[in-house]
Amino acid sequence: MNYKKSNIFITIDYELFMGERTGSVINCMIRPLDKLIEILNKYNVKMTIYVDSAYLLKVYELKSRHKSLEIDYELITSQIRSLSENGHDIQLHIHPQWLHSDYSENVWKVNPKHYKLSDLEPTESKTLFANAKLLLEQIINMPVNSFRAGGYSIQTYTNYTELFSDNGIVIDSSVLVEAYADSDFQKYDYRLCPCYERYKFKKDLMIEDNCGKFVELPISRHKVSLFYDIYKRLKLTKQFDQNKYGDGIASASYIPNNESLYHKLFRLFTNNFKTASIDNYSPIYLPYLHRKHRKTNNQDFVIIGHPKNFSELSLYYLEQFIKKEKENSRFLTVSSIAKSNLLQN
Ligand SMILES: [Zn+2]
Repeated sequence: MNYKKSNIFITIDYELFMGERTGSVINCMIRPLDKLIEILNKYNVKMTIYVDSAYLLKVYELKSRHKSLEIDYELITSQIRSLSENGHDIQLHIHPQWLHSDYSENVWKVNPKHYKLSDLEPTESKTLFANAKLLLEQIINMPVNSFRAGGYSIQTYTNYTELFSDNGIVIDSSVLVEAYADSDFQKYDYRLCPCYERYKFKKDLMIEDNCGKFVELPISRHKVSLFYDIYKRLKLTKQFDQNKYGDGIASASYIPNNESLYHKLFRLFTNNFKTASIDNYSPIYLPYLHRKHRKTNNQDFVIIGHPKNFSELSLYYLEQFIKKEKENSRFLTVSSIAKSNLLQN
């Protein structure tokens, strides 16, 4: 029996799509996040928003030449400023492909070659990281101390802890528990993740080290049997509008290189992991994933969400989860870890 209260972190990656069509700021970011804020306000819950600041930096650089970008910049900065003023936590997210992307005739041309920080020249990635963080801090007028890598892909960048140290990052939340990707875009291997809740590390976020000065707050994931999965989906998703609010197209970032049909099926039957997420229909699994998390004695339950992937259905089930857990759990922001003595525990 676990007597410690569960800590639930609602973490949001705030960004456009990065495929053939990026979608609009209004439909991918502002409106769906406003809908989430409405729900969180009802229960006085605060969230953490990882703002894609490489994108923000690009918009900032180009806005004097494009009226539409000036409007986008104003919309985004006023939303995150108001969130920050209302006690939500604003943190750093970076999708490096924006550095070499361009904008003309109201359309973004995203360069897909630089999906990871390691795909940029070392000086480029260092400068991008520092400038993006600085811009975000200037907008909210507060220091930022946590980072989540775009596409969860941080391991291929050598010396990421140096990047963290140089920029005052103490908490990373890029690890997606037990996940693995090796595609043209994303590359990470978190299959041997040392812990399902917060842990310290020194140089390598896959090695727990209590003397380390960095904290990893991994995104929660657990196995769900395929039959339970199908049953839940049939039972709970029927009566809802499942269309995403976001109006863009995602890049094909999840397709592993050379995966055979046999391996796909094998993965589905033996390794059907579900992420604690607000995207698409994922929130239907939240109660089950949270129960499983608690049964294995884990205290920190980290939920991820991308407003562009929210729908009427996803927000309905998230609200049901919050309503049920409000009394038994603590809803925390990521920076509250750094502020409180929880970091020392
Ligand atoms: Zn992202």
